[in-house]
Amino acid sequence: MNRVSPPKVVVIGAGIAGAACARALADQGFDVQVVDKARGAGGRLATRRLEWLDGEGNRRMTRFDHGAPAFRADDPAFQQFLRTAFPPDALVQWSPAGPRGKRPSGDIGSQWLPAPDMPSLCRWLLRDFTATWSFPVDRIQKGPLGWQIEAAGATLAGHFDAVVLALPPAQAAPLIAAHRGDWAQSASPVPMQPRWTLMGVARSPVNGGIGDAGQPEDGPLGWVMRNDAKPGRESRPDEAHWVAHARPAWSLEHIEQPAAWVQAQMQAALQDWLGEPILWQHAVVHRWRYAMPPSAAAGASTDAPQRFWWDGALGLGVCGDFFGSTGVEGAWQSAQALFEAMRREAAFTPPASAT
Ligand SMILES: Cc1cc2nc3c(=O)[nH]c(=O)nc-3n(C[C@H](O)[C@H](O)[C@H](O)COP(=O)(O)OP(=O)(O)OC[C@H]3O[C@@H](n4cnc5c(N)ncnc54)[C@H](O)[C@@H]3O)c2cc1C
Repeated sequence: MNRVSPPKVVVIGAGIAGAACARALADQGFDVQVVDKARGAGGRLATRRLEWLDGEGNRRMTRFDHGAPAFRADDPAFQQFLRTAFPPDALVQWSPAGPRGKRPSGDIGSQWLPAPDMPSLCRWLLRDFTATWSFPVDRIQKGPLGWQIEAAGATLAGHFDAVVLALPPAQAAPLIAAHRGDWAQSASPVPMQPRWTLMGVARSPVNGGIGDAGQPEDGPLGWVMRNDAKPGRESRPDEAHWVAHARPAWSLEHIEQPAAWVQAQMQAALQDWLGEPILWQHAVVHRWRYAMPPSAAAGASTDAPQRFWWDGALGLGVCGDFFGSTGVEGAWQSAQALFEAMRREAAFTPPASAT
């Protein structure tokens, strides 16, 4: 990318890795576009709107954070980013209380929570970007004028000097296979853990002692949360808004089961754990095929642990939570490391307005 004018970069994937990388590149003066197969930003920082009818036939809409419920920030650089890159009130710190007199809520600790919903973090980072949504990229090709990006026979307008893939490994592998077979071979076997997630509205329990969140010690459920107990989320005195994530092993074992069966199992497990009947008003389950990577997945498969892949000669980069440490923090670290490598290599002078 030895040029004087701003390099044109397309970032595929608008989760936290893609959004953070795109933001850092744009702030450095790169000319950046973003595409995602979804209808908006966020990826696994996800909030779902459920429409349902209450007992009186009134139409209701309730939101559930059904992907990452919140996230930790242990790396001082990530903490600094969270403190400086967002407007006041866009992020709050949340220390969920565990159930009273039941069991400790595990090592949940202090978590960061985007407000008013989970994708707002990525929406803010991409606020002034040219973004193309509902564009499920199935081919990237390099020609004499640069990279071209295709989805279902349609081609994204323009040619690009560099492509950044910020996707889970199973989705990145087929796109990079023709260009970097070695990367595709390392990405393909990364065993991302699945999750079944239950979300639903119930009448408030009578004992009131369940707290905000907890981690059952056994059974199908690994995490249980009151979405309505989170700061900045809708709450009503007569309702409980539940989100429960099944354990990875249970999710894997039952990944192909019908949703109705999974829902019944998870509802029964939640009731058992609470020790009281739940009067459901509405509930659904969501299947995450690629929820979380095992720790240091892609780095662990190579001699030198890596946080990203970057091929400057090709102008091709890959980042995401499957490098290095896991979760939202790991995804950000990977994106930041890829950005630094691209910045170092791009021999161009950012305009004075770029930070
Ligand atoms: C149920 C659940 C619980 C979790 N709990 C936690 C937690 O407690 N703490 C924590 O830190 N993390 C947690 N995580 C993990 C965390 O959400 C992820 O590590 C992080 O959000 C990953 O960000 P990413 O940008 O790497 O990937 P993603 O968020 O997956 O972003 C990838 C993006 O690429 C898009 N995409 C995929 N394929 C294509 C394609 N072919 N073309 C175009 N776009 C494409 C997707 O639509 C998506 O927007 C949880 C995740 C889930 C699902």
